[in-house]
Amino acid sequence: MRNLRFKQLANILWLAGAAMVITGCGMGSGRVRSSDYPFDFHVNCILDDRHVILFLVDGCRADLLGEMARSGDLPAIKKYLIERGITAACAVSTIPAVTTASVAAMTCGVYPGNLDVIGNRWFDQSRSRRNAVFSIRDFYTPNEYMRRKTIYEVLGGEMTVAVCTRSSRGATYNIPMYYNLVGMRNYLFGRWEKVDEIFIEQFGDVVECANREGVFPRLTFFHLPGLDSVSHRHGPFSSETRAMLKDVDRTIGALMEGLQRNGIMDSVCVILIADHGQVLLRKENYLLLEKYFSSELGLAALDRYNSVDRSGSLAKKERFYNRFCIIVANNGRNASLYVRHNPERRWIPPERMPSWREKATWEELRDYQTPSGAVDLVERLRSVKSIRFVIGQPGKGEVAIFSSAGESRIRTEGPNGGSLFAYEVVSGEDPLGYRDDPHAAKLMDGNYHASSEWLNATCDLAQPDVVAQLPSLFESPCSGDLFLVAADEWDFEEVNKSSHGGFLKGEMQVPLVIAGPRIRKGTIGKVRIVDVMPTILEYLGRGDRIGGLDLDGVSFWKEIENPKSQIPNPN
Ligand SMILES: [Zn+2]
Repeated sequence: MRNLRFKQLANILWLAGAAMVITGCGMGSGRVRSSDYPFDFHVNCILDDRHVILFLVDGCRADLLGEMARSGDLPAIKKYLIERGITAACAVSTIPAVTTASVAAMTCGVYPGNLDVIGNRWFDQSRSRRNAVFSIRDFYTPNEYMRRKTIYEVLGGEMTVAVCTRSSRGATYNIPMYYNLVGMRNYLFGRWEKVDEIFIEQFGDVVECANREGVFPRLTFFHLPGLDSVSHRHGPFSSETRAMLKDVDRTIGALMEGLQRNGIMDSVCVILIADHGQVLLRKENYLLLEKYFSSELGLAALDRYNSVDRSGSLAKKERFYNRFCIIVANNGRNASLYVRHNPERRWIPPERMPSWREKATWEELRDYQTPSGAVDLVERLRSVKSIRFVIGQPGKGEVAIFSSAGESRIRTEGPNGGSLFAYEVVSGEDPLGYRDDPHAAKLMDGNYHASSEWLNATCDLAQPDVVAQLPSLFESPCSGDLFLVAADEWDFEEVNKSSHGGFLKGEMQVPLVIAGPRIRKGTIGKVRIVDVMPTILEYLGRGDRIGGLDLDGVSFWKEIENPKSQIPNPN
Protein backbone atom coordinates (compact mmCIF):
# COMPACT_ATOMS: atom_id res chain seq x y z
CA MET A 1 0.00 0.00 0.00
CA ARG A 2 2.78 2.34 0.97
CA ASN A 3 4.53 1.47 -2.23
CA LEU A 4 1.38 2.25 -4.24
CA ARG A 5 0.96 5.56 -2.46
CA PHE A 6 4.56 6.39 -3.19
CA LYS A 7 4.00 5.55 -6.84
CA GLN A 8 0.93 7.75 -6.97
CA LEU A 9 2.83 10.61 -5.39
CA ALA A 10 5.66 10.12 -7.87
CA ASN A 11 3.12 10.20 -10.70
CA ILE A 12 1.57 13.41 -9.43
CA LEU A 13 4.97 15.09 -9.13
CA TRP A 14 5.91 13.89 -12.60
CA LEU A 15 2.64 15.25 -13.96
CA ALA A 16 2.99 18.57 -12.21
CA GLY A 17 6.41 18.91 -13.84
CA ALA A 18 5.01 17.90 -17.23
CA ALA A 19 2.14 20.36 -16.84
CA MET A 20 4.58 23.19 -16.27
CA VAL A 21 6.47 22.31 -19.41
CA ILE A 22 3.34 21.84 -21.50
CA THR A 23 1.38 24.86 -20.37
CA GLY A 24 2.83 28.12 -21.46
CA CYS A 25 0.75 30.66 -19.66
CA GLY A 26 -0.69 31.54 -16.31
CA MET A 27 1.52 29.35 -14.18
CA GLY A 28 1.86 29.93 -10.49
CA SER A 29 -0.32 29.91 -7.43
CA GLY A 30 -3.19 31.71 -9.18
CA ARG A 31 -3.98 28.41 -10.88
CA VAL A 32 -5.17 26.65 -7.72
CA ARG A 33 -8.62 27.91 -7.00
CA SER A 34 -11.40 27.31 -4.58
CA SER A 35 -14.58 25.92 -6.02
CA ASP A 36 -16.37 29.24 -5.56
CA TYR A 37 -14.00 31.05 -7.88
CA PRO A 38 -16.03 33.92 -9.35
CA PHE A 39 -16.62 33.42 -13.04
CA ASP A 40 -15.63 36.79 -14.30
CA PHE A 41 -13.13 37.74 -16.96
CA HIS A 42 -11.98 40.87 -18.73
CA VAL A 43 -10.91 40.55 -22.32
CA ASN A 44 -8.24 43.04 -23.23
CA CYS A 45 -6.97 41.98 -26.64
CA ILE A 46 -7.66 42.26 -30.36
CA LEU A 47 -10.59 40.41 -31.96
CA ASP A 48 -11.94 40.22 -35.50
CA ASP A 49 -14.80 38.01 -36.68
CA ARG A 50 -12.73 34.83 -37.03
CA HIS A 51 -12.71 33.11 -33.63
CA VAL A 52 -14.19 29.73 -32.70
CA ILE A 53 -14.97 28.29 -29.28
CA LEU A 54 -15.95 24.62 -29.44
CA PHE A 55 -17.64 22.77 -26.57
CA LEU A 56 -17.48 19.02 -26.81
CA VAL A 57 -20.05 17.53 -24.42
CA ASP A 58 -18.77 13.98 -24.08
CA GLY A 59 -21.42 11.29 -24.60
CA CYS A 60 -24.39 13.64 -25.11
CA ARG A 61 -27.19 12.14 -27.19
CA ALA A 62 -28.59 14.34 -29.95
CA ASP A 63 -32.21 13.50 -29.10
CA LEU A 64 -31.74 14.24 -25.39
CA LEU A 65 -30.30 17.68 -26.10
CA GLY A 66 -33.07 18.43 -28.62
CA GLU A 67 -35.83 17.31 -26.27
CA MET A 68 -34.49 19.22 -23.26
CA ALA A 69 -33.92 22.38 -25.30
CA ARG A 70 -37.50 22.24 -26.64
CA SER A 71 -38.97 21.77 -23.17
CA GLY A 72 -37.07 24.77 -21.79
CA ASP A 73 -34.56 22.84 -19.68
CA LEU A 74 -31.54 24.25 -21.52
CA PRO A 75 -32.25 27.98 -21.69
CA ALA A 76 -28.68 29.09 -22.45
CA ILE A 77 -28.05 26.57 -25.23
CA LYS A 78 -31.42 27.53 -26.71
CA LYS A 79 -30.86 31.27 -26.45
CA TYR A 80 -27.20 31.58 -27.38
CA LEU A 81 -26.81 28.68 -29.78
CA ILE A 82 -29.97 27.16 -31.25
CA GLU A 83 -31.91 30.40 -31.77
CA ARG A 84 -28.88 32.30 -33.07
CA GLY A 85 -27.49 29.70 -35.47
CA ILE A 86 -27.53 26.39 -37.26
CA THR A 87 -28.60 22.98 -35.95
CA ALA A 88 -27.66 19.81 -37.84
CA ALA A 89 -30.65 17.62 -38.61
CA CYS A 90 -28.38 14.59 -38.42
CA ALA A 91 -24.73 14.52 -37.36
CA VAL A 92 -22.84 11.24 -36.97
CA SER A 93 -19.84 10.22 -34.92
CA THR A 94 -17.03 8.00 -36.15
CA ILE A 95 -16.51 4.25 -36.21
CA PRO A 96 -15.69 3.44 -33.52
CA ALA A 97 -17.83 5.91 -31.56
CA VAL A 98 -15.55 6.13 -28.53
CA THR A 99 -14.00 9.30 -27.16
CA THR A 100 -10.31 8.94 -27.94
CA ALA A 101 -10.92 7.84 -31.53
CA SER A 102 -13.73 10.31 -32.19
CA VAL A 103 -11.97 13.34 -30.73
CA ALA A 104 -8.74 12.56 -32.61
CA ALA A 105 -10.81 12.18 -35.79
CA MET A 106 -12.58 15.47 -35.16
CA THR A 107 -9.26 17.21 -34.47
CA CYS A 108 -7.73 16.00 -37.75
CA GLY A 109 -10.81 15.71 -40.00
CA VAL A 110 -9.77 12.10 -40.64
CA TYR A 111 -11.37 8.77 -39.67
CA PRO A 112 -9.80 6.95 -36.68
CA GLY A 113 -8.43 4.09 -38.81
CA ASN A 114 -6.50 6.54 -40.97
CA LEU A 115 -4.98 8.09 -37.83
CA ASP A 116 -3.95 4.89 -35.97
CA VAL A 117 -6.09 6.06 -33.03
CA ILE A 118 -8.71 3.35 -33.26
CA GLY A 119 -10.31 3.37 -29.81
CA ASN A 120 -9.77 4.15 -26.15
CA ARG A 121 -7.71 0.96 -26.13
CA TRP A 122 -5.71 -0.67 -28.90
CA PHE A 123 -2.76 -3.01 -29.36
CA ASP A 124 0.19 -1.72 -31.32
CA GLN A 125 1.68 -5.03 -32.44
CA SER A 126 4.71 -3.44 -34.10
CA ARG A 127 5.78 -1.88 -30.78
CA SER A 128 4.42 -4.55 -28.42
CA ARG A 129 2.44 -1.84 -26.74
CA ARG A 130 -1.10 -2.06 -25.37
CA ASN A 131 -2.49 1.46 -25.31
CA ALA A 132 -5.25 2.47 -22.90
CA VAL A 133 -6.01 6.15 -22.74
CA PHE A 134 -7.49 6.26 -19.25
CA SER A 135 -4.77 6.90 -16.71
CA ILE A 136 -3.42 10.41 -16.46
CA ARG A 137 -0.06 9.11 -17.55
CA ASP A 138 -1.41 7.84 -20.88
CA PHE A 139 -3.77 10.75 -21.46
CA TYR A 140 -1.75 12.17 -24.36
CA THR A 141 -1.03 8.91 -26.21
CA PRO A 142 -3.13 10.10 -29.20
CA ASN A 143 -0.65 12.95 -29.71
CA GLU A 144 2.04 10.34 -30.37
CA TYR A 145 -0.09 8.44 -32.86
CA MET A 146 -2.22 10.78 -34.99
CA ARG A 147 -0.43 10.44 -38.32
CA ARG A 148 -2.08 13.45 -39.94
CA LYS A 149 -1.96 17.10 -39.00
CA THR A 150 -4.21 18.36 -36.22
CA ILE A 151 -6.26 21.51 -36.75
CA TYR A 152 -3.88 23.25 -34.34
CA GLU A 153 -0.93 22.33 -36.54
CA VAL A 154 -2.74 23.42 -39.69
CA LEU A 155 -3.47 26.76 -38.03
CA GLY A 156 0.21 26.91 -37.03
CA GLY A 157 1.33 30.39 -36.10
CA GLU A 158 -2.15 31.45 -34.98
CA MET A 159 -3.14 31.27 -31.37
CA THR A 160 -5.09 28.16 -30.37
CA VAL A 161 -6.03 26.72 -26.98
CA ALA A 162 -6.88 23.10 -26.13
CA VAL A 163 -8.62 22.54 -22.80
CA CYS A 164 -8.77 19.04 -21.36
CA THR A 165 -8.51 17.25 -24.70
CA ARG A 166 -6.37 14.17 -25.34
CA SER A 167 -5.63 15.29 -28.90
CA SER A 168 -3.95 18.61 -28.27
CA ARG A 169 -0.83 18.34 -30.42
CA GLY A 170 0.19 21.67 -31.91
CA ALA A 171 -2.07 23.87 -29.78
CA THR A 172 -0.37 27.11 -28.74
CA TYR A 173 -1.67 26.56 -25.20
CA ASN A 174 -2.64 23.24 -23.74
CA ILE A 175 -4.59 23.39 -20.50
CA PRO A 176 -4.58 19.81 -19.22
CA MET A 177 -7.27 18.38 -17.01
CA TYR A 178 -4.87 17.68 -14.18
CA TYR A 179 -3.66 21.25 -14.09
CA ASN A 180 -6.80 22.33 -12.30
CA LEU A 181 -6.42 20.73 -8.90
CA VAL A 182 -10.00 21.40 -7.85
CA GLY A 183 -11.29 19.91 -11.10
CA MET A 184 -8.94 16.97 -10.71
CA ARG A 185 -10.11 16.31 -7.16
CA ASN A 186 -13.73 16.23 -8.35
CA TYR A 187 -12.74 13.97 -11.24
CA LEU A 188 -10.91 11.49 -9.01
CA PHE A 189 -13.75 11.43 -6.48
CA GLY A 190 -16.38 11.00 -9.19
CA ARG A 191 -18.13 14.32 -8.55
CA TRP A 192 -18.89 14.56 -12.24
CA GLU A 193 -21.44 17.32 -11.93
CA LYS A 194 -18.69 19.58 -10.59
CA VAL A 195 -16.03 18.54 -13.09
CA ASP A 196 -17.27 20.44 -16.13
CA GLU A 197 -18.14 23.51 -14.11
CA ILE A 198 -14.53 23.83 -13.03
CA PHE A 199 -13.21 23.13 -16.49
CA ILE A 200 -15.33 25.76 -18.07
CA GLU A 201 -14.05 28.21 -15.49
CA GLN A 202 -10.73 27.59 -17.14
CA PHE A 203 -11.99 30.02 -19.70
CA GLY A 204 -10.42 32.49 -17.29
CA ASP A 205 -7.08 30.88 -18.17
CA VAL A 206 -7.86 31.20 -21.88
CA VAL A 207 -8.56 34.92 -21.45
CA GLU A 208 -5.36 35.28 -19.44
CA CYS A 209 -3.41 33.74 -22.32
CA ALA A 210 -5.28 35.96 -24.84
CA ASN A 211 -4.59 39.14 -22.91
CA ARG A 212 -0.96 38.21 -22.59
CA GLU A 213 -0.67 37.50 -26.34
CA GLY A 214 -2.73 40.54 -27.24
CA VAL A 215 -4.98 38.50 -29.56
CA PHE A 216 -8.03 36.32 -28.91
CA PRO A 217 -7.51 32.63 -29.84
CA ARG A 218 -8.56 31.54 -33.32
CA LEU A 219 -9.73 28.24 -31.86
CA THR A 220 -10.51 27.20 -28.29
CA PHE A 221 -11.42 23.54 -27.85
CA PHE A 222 -13.16 22.60 -24.58
CA HIS A 223 -13.65 18.94 -23.79
CA LEU A 224 -16.31 18.49 -21.08
CA PRO A 225 -16.00 14.88 -19.87
CA GLY A 226 -18.55 14.83 -17.02
CA LEU A 227 -21.78 13.90 -18.80
CA ASP A 228 -20.39 10.70 -20.33
CA SER A 229 -19.37 9.39 -16.91
CA VAL A 230 -22.75 10.20 -15.36
CA SER A 231 -24.52 8.58 -18.29
CA HIS A 232 -22.39 5.40 -18.10
CA ARG A 233 -23.40 5.05 -14.46
CA HIS A 234 -27.06 6.13 -14.55
CA GLY A 235 -28.23 5.86 -18.18
CA PRO A 236 -28.54 8.43 -21.00
CA PHE A 237 -32.06 9.59 -20.05
CA SER A 238 -31.72 9.37 -16.26
CA SER A 239 -32.51 12.29 -14.00
CA GLU A 240 -28.79 12.42 -13.09
CA THR A 241 -27.76 12.80 -16.75
CA ARG A 242 -30.44 15.44 -17.31
CA ALA A 243 -29.26 17.37 -14.27
CA MET A 244 -25.71 17.18 -15.57
CA LEU A 245 -26.75 18.57 -18.97
CA LYS A 246 -28.55 21.40 -17.16
CA ASP A 247 -25.27 22.14 -15.38
CA VAL A 248 -23.46 22.20 -18.72
CA ASP A 249 -26.13 24.62 -19.95
CA ARG A 250 -25.63 26.86 -16.92
CA THR A 251 -21.88 27.02 -17.35
CA ILE A 252 -22.12 27.67 -21.10
CA GLY A 253 -24.65 30.39 -20.23
CA ALA A 254 -22.22 31.96 -17.74
CA LEU A 255 -19.49 31.97 -20.35
CA MET A 256 -21.74 33.48 -23.03
CA GLU A 257 -22.88 36.19 -20.60
CA GLY A 258 -19.23 36.90 -19.91
CA LEU A 259 -18.58 37.31 -23.64
CA GLN A 260 -21.60 39.59 -23.86
CA ARG A 261 -20.43 41.70 -20.89
CA ASN A 262 -17.13 42.15 -22.66
CA GLY A 263 -18.98 43.17 -25.83
CA ILE A 264 -17.44 40.37 -27.90
CA MET A 265 -20.23 37.80 -28.19
CA ASP A 266 -20.87 38.77 -31.81
CA SER A 267 -17.21 38.27 -32.69
CA VAL A 268 -17.04 34.64 -31.65
CA CYS A 269 -18.45 31.53 -33.31
CA VAL A 270 -19.59 28.95 -30.75
CA ILE A 271 -19.95 25.26 -31.59
CA LEU A 272 -21.62 22.65 -29.40
CA ILE A 273 -20.99 19.04 -30.36
CA ALA A 274 -20.57 15.57 -28.83
CA ASP A 275 -18.09 12.85 -29.68
CA HIS A 276 -20.70 10.05 -29.48
CA GLY A 277 -24.01 9.19 -27.83
CA GLN A 278 -24.86 6.32 -25.46
CA VAL A 279 -27.35 3.43 -25.38
CA LEU A 280 -28.90 1.73 -22.37
CA LEU A 281 -27.78 -1.80 -21.47
CA ARG A 282 -29.37 -4.51 -19.40
CA LYS A 283 -27.46 -4.79 -16.16
CA GLU A 284 -26.76 -8.51 -16.41
CA ASN A 285 -25.77 -8.29 -20.10
CA TYR A 286 -22.03 -8.33 -20.41
CA LEU A 287 -19.64 -10.70 -22.09
CA LEU A 288 -16.10 -10.85 -20.77
CA LEU A 289 -14.10 -11.88 -23.84
CA GLU A 290 -11.03 -12.82 -21.82
CA LYS A 291 -13.08 -15.46 -20.04
CA TYR A 292 -14.99 -16.51 -23.14
CA PHE A 293 -11.89 -17.44 -25.15
CA SER A 294 -10.23 -19.40 -22.38
CA SER A 295 -13.33 -21.26 -21.17
CA GLU A 296 -15.03 -21.92 -24.55
CA LEU A 297 -12.07 -22.40 -26.86
CA GLY A 298 -9.12 -23.10 -24.57
CA LEU A 299 -7.31 -20.05 -25.97
CA ALA A 300 -5.43 -17.89 -23.47
CA ALA A 301 -6.75 -14.33 -23.89
CA LEU A 302 -5.71 -10.99 -22.42
CA ASP A 303 -8.07 -8.04 -21.98
CA ARG A 304 -7.62 -6.39 -18.58
CA TYR A 305 -4.58 -4.19 -18.14
CA ASN A 306 -1.98 -4.77 -15.47
CA SER A 307 1.38 -3.48 -14.32
CA VAL A 308 3.25 -5.28 -17.13
CA ASP A 309 1.45 -3.11 -19.68
CA ARG A 310 3.04 -0.07 -18.05
CA SER A 311 6.47 -1.63 -17.77
CA GLY A 312 9.31 0.19 -19.46
CA SER A 313 10.91 -3.12 -20.40
CA LEU A 314 10.03 -4.26 -23.91
CA ALA A 315 11.41 -7.74 -23.25
CA LYS A 316 9.24 -8.13 -20.17
CA LYS A 317 6.14 -7.07 -22.09
CA GLU A 318 6.93 -9.35 -25.03
CA ARG A 319 7.49 -12.32 -22.72
CA PHE A 320 4.12 -11.66 -21.10
CA TYR A 321 2.14 -11.06 -24.31
CA ASN A 322 3.68 -14.19 -25.85
CA ARG A 323 1.71 -16.26 -23.33
CA PHE A 324 -1.56 -15.39 -25.10
CA CYS A 325 -3.29 -16.42 -28.34
CA ILE A 326 -5.86 -13.59 -28.25
CA ILE A 327 -5.38 -9.99 -27.19
CA VAL A 328 -8.57 -7.98 -26.74
CA ALA A 329 -8.76 -4.19 -27.08
CA ASN A 330 -12.01 -3.59 -25.26
CA ASN A 331 -13.93 -0.44 -26.08
CA GLY A 332 -17.23 -1.02 -24.31
CA ARG A 333 -19.67 -1.99 -27.05
CA ASN A 334 -16.94 -2.97 -29.47
CA ALA A 335 -13.71 -4.90 -29.22
CA SER A 336 -10.78 -5.38 -31.56
CA LEU A 337 -9.42 -8.92 -31.46
CA TYR A 338 -5.78 -9.54 -32.19
CA VAL A 339 -5.26 -13.20 -33.05
CA ARG A 340 -1.84 -14.82 -32.76
CA HIS A 341 -0.36 -16.12 -35.99
CA ASN A 342 0.31 -19.85 -35.87
CA PRO A 343 2.02 -21.09 -39.06
CA GLU A 344 1.83 -24.75 -37.96
CA ARG A 345 -1.29 -26.57 -39.06
CA ARG A 346 -1.66 -28.01 -35.56
CA TRP A 347 -2.04 -26.66 -32.02
CA ILE A 348 1.17 -25.46 -30.38
CA PRO A 349 1.42 -23.53 -27.10
CA PRO A 350 1.46 -19.74 -27.57
CA GLU A 351 5.01 -19.51 -26.18
CA ARG A 352 6.17 -21.35 -29.32
CA MET A 353 4.16 -19.27 -31.80
CA PRO A 354 5.88 -16.46 -33.78
CA SER A 355 6.02 -12.94 -32.34
CA TRP A 356 2.94 -10.70 -32.27
CA ARG A 357 4.53 -8.67 -35.06
CA GLU A 358 3.35 -11.31 -37.54
CA LYS A 359 -0.33 -11.01 -38.41
CA ALA A 360 -2.73 -13.94 -38.74
CA THR A 361 -4.22 -14.48 -42.21
CA TRP A 362 -7.96 -14.48 -42.99
CA GLU A 363 -7.78 -18.18 -43.91
CA GLU A 364 -6.18 -18.89 -40.57
CA LEU A 365 -8.99 -17.12 -38.68
CA ARG A 366 -11.50 -19.34 -40.48
CA ASP A 367 -9.58 -22.48 -39.48
CA TYR A 368 -7.82 -21.61 -36.24
CA GLN A 369 -5.97 -24.23 -34.21
CA THR A 370 -7.12 -24.70 -30.62
CA PRO A 371 -6.13 -27.40 -28.08
CA SER A 372 -9.26 -29.32 -29.11
CA GLY A 373 -9.00 -28.99 -32.89
CA ALA A 374 -9.49 -26.35 -35.57
CA VAL A 375 -12.29 -23.78 -35.20
CA ASP A 376 -13.75 -21.20 -37.60
CA LEU A 377 -13.48 -18.19 -35.30
CA VAL A 378 -15.93 -16.15 -37.38
CA GLU A 379 -18.61 -18.85 -37.27
CA ARG A 380 -18.11 -19.46 -33.56
CA LEU A 381 -18.32 -15.78 -32.64
CA ARG A 382 -21.32 -14.91 -34.84
CA SER A 383 -23.34 -17.59 -33.05
CA VAL A 384 -22.74 -16.03 -29.60
CA LYS A 385 -25.94 -14.23 -28.62
CA SER A 386 -24.16 -11.31 -26.95
CA ILE A 387 -22.28 -10.49 -30.17
CA ARG A 388 -24.17 -8.70 -32.91
CA PHE A 389 -21.45 -8.45 -35.56
CA VAL A 390 -18.18 -10.13 -36.38
CA ILE A 391 -16.29 -8.01 -38.89
CA GLY A 392 -13.10 -8.77 -40.77
CA GLN A 393 -11.14 -8.14 -43.93
CA PRO A 394 -11.07 -11.17 -46.24
CA GLY A 395 -9.00 -9.24 -48.80
CA LYS A 396 -7.77 -5.79 -49.73
CA GLY A 397 -10.65 -3.43 -50.48
CA GLU A 398 -13.20 -5.76 -48.91
CA VAL A 399 -14.85 -5.81 -45.48
CA ALA A 400 -17.12 -8.66 -44.39
CA ILE A 401 -19.91 -8.21 -41.83
CA PHE A 402 -21.36 -11.32 -40.20
CA SER A 403 -24.43 -11.44 -37.96
CA SER A 404 -26.10 -14.60 -36.70
CA ALA A 405 -28.65 -14.38 -39.54
CA GLY A 406 -26.72 -12.95 -42.46
CA GLU A 407 -23.54 -11.86 -44.11
CA SER A 408 -22.67 -8.81 -46.21
CA ARG A 409 -19.70 -7.19 -47.93
CA ILE A 410 -18.49 -3.64 -48.30
CA ARG A 411 -16.17 -3.24 -51.29
CA THR A 412 -14.11 -0.11 -51.68
CA GLU A 413 -12.30 1.73 -54.44
CA GLY A 414 -9.53 4.21 -53.75
CA PRO A 415 -6.83 4.58 -51.08
CA ASN A 416 -7.17 4.97 -47.28
CA GLY A 417 -10.28 2.84 -46.93
CA GLY A 418 -11.79 4.06 -50.18
CA SER A 419 -13.65 6.98 -51.66
CA LEU A 420 -16.31 4.85 -53.42
CA PHE A 421 -18.26 2.09 -51.72
CA ALA A 422 -20.42 -0.84 -52.82
CA TYR A 423 -22.51 -2.75 -50.30
CA GLU A 424 -24.21 -6.08 -50.90
CA VAL A 425 -25.78 -8.88 -48.90
CA VAL A 426 -23.98 -12.18 -49.49
CA SER A 427 -26.40 -14.48 -47.67
CA GLY A 428 -29.39 -14.38 -45.33
CA GLU A 429 -30.61 -11.15 -43.76
CA ASP A 430 -28.89 -7.80 -44.28
CA PRO A 431 -26.85 -7.32 -41.07
CA LEU A 432 -27.22 -3.53 -41.32
CA GLY A 433 -30.90 -3.62 -42.32
CA TYR A 434 -30.26 -1.24 -45.23
CA ARG A 435 -32.11 -3.47 -47.70
CA ASP A 436 -35.38 -2.63 -45.92
CA ASP A 437 -35.05 1.09 -46.57
CA PRO A 438 -35.94 2.28 -50.08
CA HIS A 439 -33.22 4.99 -50.29
CA ALA A 440 -30.42 2.81 -48.95
CA ALA A 441 -31.63 -0.22 -50.95
CA LYS A 442 -31.26 1.82 -54.14
CA LEU A 443 -27.54 2.12 -53.48
CA MET A 444 -27.25 -1.67 -53.09
CA ASP A 445 -27.17 -2.16 -56.85
CA GLY A 446 -23.70 -3.69 -57.13
CA ASN A 447 -22.20 -0.34 -58.17
CA TYR A 448 -19.86 1.93 -56.26
CA HIS A 449 -21.33 5.06 -54.67
CA ALA A 450 -19.77 8.12 -53.07
CA SER A 451 -19.35 8.47 -49.32
CA SER A 452 -21.82 11.39 -49.26
CA GLU A 453 -24.52 9.25 -50.92
CA TRP A 454 -24.18 6.61 -48.21
CA LEU A 455 -24.30 9.25 -45.49
CA ASN A 456 -27.42 10.84 -46.94
CA ALA A 457 -29.20 7.51 -47.36
CA THR A 458 -28.34 6.04 -43.95
CA CYS A 459 -27.85 8.93 -41.48
CA ASP A 460 -31.33 8.46 -39.97
CA LEU A 461 -31.46 4.66 -40.11
CA ALA A 462 -31.10 2.34 -37.14
CA GLN A 463 -27.36 1.90 -37.88
CA PRO A 464 -26.14 5.09 -39.54
CA ASP A 465 -23.19 5.58 -41.91
CA VAL A 466 -21.52 2.19 -41.55
CA VAL A 467 -20.68 1.57 -45.24
CA ALA A 468 -18.46 4.60 -45.84
CA GLN A 469 -16.77 4.62 -42.43
CA LEU A 470 -16.13 0.99 -41.49
CA PRO A 471 -13.50 0.10 -44.17
CA SER A 472 -11.01 2.72 -42.93
CA LEU A 473 -10.95 0.99 -39.54
CA PHE A 474 -8.98 -1.85 -41.17
CA GLU A 475 -6.45 0.51 -42.76
CA SER A 476 -4.38 1.06 -39.64
CA PRO A 477 -1.36 -1.11 -38.82
CA CYS A 478 -2.86 -1.09 -35.29
CA SER A 479 -6.17 -2.68 -36.44
CA GLY A 480 -7.26 -5.96 -34.92
CA ASP A 481 -7.84 -9.05 -37.06
CA LEU A 482 -11.52 -9.10 -36.13
CA PHE A 483 -13.79 -6.31 -34.90
CA LEU A 484 -16.70 -7.31 -32.68
CA VAL A 485 -19.81 -5.26 -31.99
CA ALA A 486 -21.88 -6.23 -28.95
CA ALA A 487 -25.55 -7.17 -29.37
CA ASP A 488 -28.17 -4.53 -28.52
CA GLU A 489 -28.27 -3.92 -24.74
CA TRP A 490 -24.96 -5.80 -24.33
CA ASP A 491 -21.47 -4.62 -23.45
CA PHE A 492 -17.97 -6.12 -23.23
CA GLU A 493 -17.45 -4.49 -19.81
CA GLU A 494 -19.29 -5.37 -16.62
CA VAL A 495 -19.50 -1.95 -15.00
CA ASN A 496 -21.78 0.10 -17.25
CA LYS A 497 -25.48 0.78 -17.14
CA SER A 498 -25.16 2.53 -20.47
CA SER A 499 -22.41 2.46 -23.07
CA HIS A 500 -21.33 3.16 -26.66
CA GLY A 501 -19.03 2.05 -29.44
CA GLY A 502 -21.50 0.01 -31.51
CA PHE A 503 -23.38 1.11 -34.63
CA LEU A 504 -26.78 2.04 -33.15
CA LYS A 505 -28.34 5.41 -33.85
CA GLY A 506 -28.32 6.33 -30.13
CA GLU A 507 -24.54 5.93 -29.93
CA MET A 508 -23.68 7.18 -33.45
CA GLN A 509 -25.81 10.35 -33.68
CA VAL A 510 -24.57 13.49 -31.93
CA PRO A 511 -25.86 17.04 -31.44
CA LEU A 512 -24.25 19.79 -33.50
CA VAL A 513 -25.16 23.49 -33.13
CA ILE A 514 -23.13 26.40 -34.51
CA ALA A 515 -23.80 30.11 -33.91
CA GLY A 516 -21.81 33.26 -34.50
CA PRO A 517 -20.90 35.99 -36.93
CA ARG A 518 -21.45 35.24 -40.65
CA ILE A 519 -23.50 32.13 -39.84
CA ARG A 520 -27.13 31.89 -40.90
CA LYS A 521 -30.00 30.65 -38.73
CA GLY A 522 -31.84 27.39 -39.37
CA THR A 523 -30.83 23.79 -40.01
CA ILE A 524 -28.47 21.82 -42.21
CA GLY A 525 -28.84 18.27 -43.41
CA LYS A 526 -26.50 15.38 -42.79
CA VAL A 527 -22.93 15.80 -41.65
CA ARG A 528 -20.16 13.89 -39.91
CA ILE A 529 -18.11 15.06 -36.96
CA VAL A 530 -14.97 14.78 -39.17
CA ASP A 531 -16.51 17.54 -41.35
CA VAL A 532 -16.19 20.07 -38.53
CA MET A 533 -12.40 20.49 -38.85
CA PRO A 534 -12.38 21.60 -42.52
CA THR A 535 -15.50 23.71 -41.86
CA ILE A 536 -13.71 25.60 -39.07
CA LEU A 537 -10.66 26.09 -41.32
CA GLU A 538 -12.82 27.60 -44.03
CA TYR A 539 -14.70 29.74 -41.54
CA LEU A 540 -11.37 31.09 -40.27
CA GLY A 541 -10.38 32.01 -43.84
CA ARG A 542 -7.88 29.15 -44.09
CA GLY A 543 -9.74 27.03 -46.64
CA ASP A 544 -6.66 27.17 -48.87
CA ARG A 545 -4.84 24.91 -46.40
CA ILE A 546 -7.34 22.04 -46.76
CA GLY A 547 -6.04 20.94 -50.17
CA GLY A 548 -2.98 18.91 -49.23
CA LEU A 549 -4.41 17.37 -46.06
CA ASP A 550 -6.15 14.34 -47.60
CA LEU A 551 -9.13 14.61 -45.25
CA ASP A 552 -12.10 12.27 -44.86
CA GLY A 553 -14.18 15.25 -43.69
CA VAL A 554 -15.72 17.74 -46.08
CA SER A 555 -16.33 21.39 -45.24
CA PHE A 556 -20.00 22.38 -44.99
CA TRP A 557 -19.18 26.05 -44.57
CA LYS A 558 -21.04 27.08 -47.75
CA GLU A 559 -24.21 25.50 -46.35
CA ILE A 560 -24.15 27.43 -43.08
CA GLU A 561 -22.78 30.75 -44.33
CA ASN A 562 -25.06 33.77 -44.11
CA PRO A 563 -25.23 34.82 -47.78
CA LYS A 564 -25.22 38.49 -46.77
CA SER A 565 -21.96 38.22 -44.87
CA GLN A 566 -18.60 39.40 -46.13
CA ILE A 567 -15.83 36.96 -46.90
CA PRO A 568 -13.21 37.67 -44.24
CA ASN A 569 -9.77 38.79 -45.15
CA PRO A 570 -7.40 36.49 -43.27
CA ASN A 571 -4.62 39.09 -43.32
ZN1 LIG B 1 -17.90 6.78 -22.55
